[in-house]
Amino acid sequence: MAKKVEKLIPAEYIGDVGSQIVTIDKQRYLVSNDVMYTFYQRTKGEYSDYFLALRDDKKILGCKCPKCGIVRCPPFLTHCPDCDFAPTKLVEVGQTGVMLSTPPITYFANSLFAKMAPYGRGRVVLKGADTALAVNLYTTTGILVPGIIKKGTEVRVVFRDERIGEASDIFCVPVAELTKAQVAKKGLLASELNWSSPKEPALPKPSAKDEAAYAKALKEIKSVVALMNKTERSRKDIAGWKRNIQVKTTGGQFALLINDGDIKLEEKKLAKPDFTIVARDPKTLADGLAYRGAITYSVIMGRLWISKNMEFTTIFKLDRMSRSVARAKK
Ligand SMILES: [Zn+2]
Repeated sequence: MAKKVEKLIPAEYIGDVGSQIVTIDKQRYLVSNDVMYTFYQRTKGEYSDYFLALRDDKKILGCKCPKCGIVRCPPFLTHCPDCDFAPTKLVEVGQTGVMLSTPPITYFANSLFAKMAPYGRGRVVLKGADTALAVNLYTTTGILVPGIIKKGTEVRVVFRDERIGEASDIFCVPVAELTKAQVAKKGLLASELNWSSPKEPALPKPSAKDEAAYAKALKEIKSVVALMNKTERSRKDIAGWKRNIQVKTTGGQFALLINDGDIKLEEKKLAKPDFTIVARDPKTLADGLAYRGAITYSVIMGRLWISKNMEFTTIFKLDRMSRSVARAKK
């Protein structure tokens, strides 16, 4: 089977052969499309061994000073500054370690890193190393929120299935989310983790008060969703987007169906939702959709839970839709 190769320059940025007329101060100018190649290569130089070990052997290397014995990871010092620049030796370090500090979480990344968000960024001291390695952090339990990974949390390195010899070939997840065999395995792959059955927060048995609160919130959400569906600007926010979302609240549940510009609410349980939102209090979601505070913020603060980390993008789109409706009203 031929392997699909991702191109450095996306197809949409590659111009068509042709020309067009541009008019400036009533004068017509013919403008032709042309091309200039800007592809370049950069070397990892003397650090190549570290990146090759990541890519080909699923190993993490450190460098050990033969005099003081300190093991630095990543091995980016070829000579020990503490020992008259004695040459260091490459050694393999462990693939589990402890967080040196509590990692900040990036929810709104720039376009270069948007595909990875939300992610934590922190430093881990791996077993056998004396210095900390900067890594990206994820959780398999749903959305990454503060509190899941803290200073002192035990984490393990996971290797991406497709590796090219870059720092992003690896990331870490908490050891507590893995089986014993996964923790012990050398070179654990991302595809070997269970990303699809995160632990959903339990909802209490509904009281009459909860049911009344649900009925009230549902009524408002229904009217907001209808308004979103009628507003051109908010329809544009979900152009080309398709998601079936199950929303669970204490008092009841419903489905939000997004389909290329259309959004609708159906009072039903989906057999296979793309992801699940759990809102203990349905008013939290009603407030967000009605533009009384961002839904993204409620997710970050843990008032709303979503089952898939990468679906933060969809939550972001819902916020944009409620903003679009608010702006259209003006
Ligand atoms: Zn030394």
